[in-house]
Amino acid sequence: MKKTAMLILAAAPAVAMAGLYGDVPDAKHAWAVHDWNRPKPAKVEVDEKGVPSDAVVLFDGTKESYEANWCKDDGSAPTWRLEDGAFTSREGWGLGSIRTKREFGDCQLHIEFRHPADVKTQGGPQMRGNSGVFLMGPDYGYEVQVLESYFTSRDMEGRPGYVDNYTDGQAGAVYAENPPMVNPQRKPGEWQVYDIVFHQPVWEGGTLLHPGSITVFFNGVLVQDHWEMEGQTTHCRRRPLKPHPVKGPLYLQDHGCPVSYRNIWIREIPSRWDNKTHSAMSADEGEVMKLRRETAAKLFARIADPKAATAENVKALGEVVSYANEGEYKEAFEAALAAYKAKHGDEKEVKGVNDALGVLVRNKVISEASLVK
Ligand code: MG
Repeated sequence: MKKTAMLILAAAPAVAMAGLYGDVPDAKHAWAVHDWNRPKPAKVEVDEKGVPSDAVVLFDGTKESYEANWCKDDGSAPTWRLEDGAFTSREGWGLGSIRTKREFGDCQLHIEFRHPADVKTQGGPQMRGNSGVFLMGPDYGYEVQVLESYFTSRDMEGRPGYVDNYTDGQAGAVYAENPPMVNPQRKPGEWQVYDIVFHQPVWEGGTLLHPGSITVFFNGVLVQDHWEMEGQTTHCRRRPLKPHPVKGPLYLQDHGCPVSYRNIWIREIPSRWDNKTHSAMSADEGEVMKLRRETAAKLFARIADPKAATAENVKALGEVVSYANEGEYKEAFEAALAAYKAKHGDEKEVKGVNDALGVLVRNKVISEASLVK
């Protein structure tokens, strides 16, 4: 914050700060810059385990949360081994992949996984602790690969233990599309953490508006930076994106390898395309104007006497027309301004009025000729 702005805030009265200050609403923005009328975000508390209060906890280590939230693909009870606050797949393919009973779309996901300290390569690097976090299920979903890849990093090449692999199939990869930018995986036996931000593709009928994106922090390190999906992830093939339901389960792959999971929570988040009232990218001009008019009406209703020829009234009405310069608001503003000009206060007061109106001039809501001389 600029020092001048801090001084202004420090001097502000305890009542709601408002007024003409930042650039005013426009066709794509229902709110002014630094708009004090803009609704405040909801409070979220984060507990000692790092779980936000608005998250859906999908697994907290207990049998209750395991059974309440997870099932096999066919809907029957999951049979991954539950032990020490984690559930674990086994060697061989017998237990089957599991999924959440509830379905999700765009989300923030936290999930932790671990391979056995003595993890085996089981006949090939893709059988070395393979599992996978599928956003929106296996049928049309998107896999962030889970694999034991500590020994796959570039600086291990040629050294004992090195495991060669294809990079778009190692841990942290968007499977078959994009390798992780770096390899922050810890040694097998240690817990690993994925924090994932997922936006599904956005369609309008059969037209793709946006491919969606996956961002992955792997043990706190950014490895997928808003990767825009090229298709639905699958083995060997490029499978193009196609429309699908807007919600699907979170799905954990059984790939015949023992992998443990714990501390799983998810927050549903809006699509960035849902912002219809304040976004240069996705705002709908009709929705913007509707909200602007609602705000103008609220502010106008607060004015005790719109006809008062005072500096405060001119500024208050100036704020109203910054949202909707039309009808009774425009008439009241122009009448109050004319009345004020006829019997305005001292130089300091006029400067305050002109500073406020200057925002409207700068944003071409009124002309420079409207300023008080
Ligand atoms: Mg996998």
